[in-house]
Amino acid sequence: MLHECTVQTSGRESLTVITDQVARLVREAGVTSGVALLYVPHTTCAITIQENADPGVQHDMLMVLRRIVPREDTNYRHIEDNSASHLQASMMGFSHFVFIEGGRLVLGQWQTIYLAEFDGPRTRRVLVKFLRD
Ligand code: ZN
Repeated sequence: MLHECTVQTSGRESLTVITDQVARLVREAGVTSGVALLYVPHTTCAITIQENADPGVQHDMLMVLRRIVPREDTNYRHIEDNSASHLQASMMGFSHFVFIEGGRLVLGQWQTIYLAEFDGPRTRRVLVKFLRD
């Protein structure tokens, strides 16, 4: 069975914490031990796991991605004019996995799950599949 949560993003580029939403799906599904596979069915947003203690980390990740992939480039051919959004999403990736143990997501002390928006604000879907032990 495929589970799903929706995420409203803010700003053209942003990192939205989705850890609590994913944890709620784990509880509702009654998964005590296994793996959560996370996937975004989009082409201009991504999933990542990173620190949530210092907001400077979010800022720096977006800043560097912007630097690596400039929004304006006269050589882009994509007619929608959002090639940077597609490239940044591909660099970060559309899926992730998190272990589940004792009914809880296994994350490090400083780790949180983010939906990384590169062409917002939009309402995004996060699909979750549980593989149970
Ligand atoms: Zn596009």
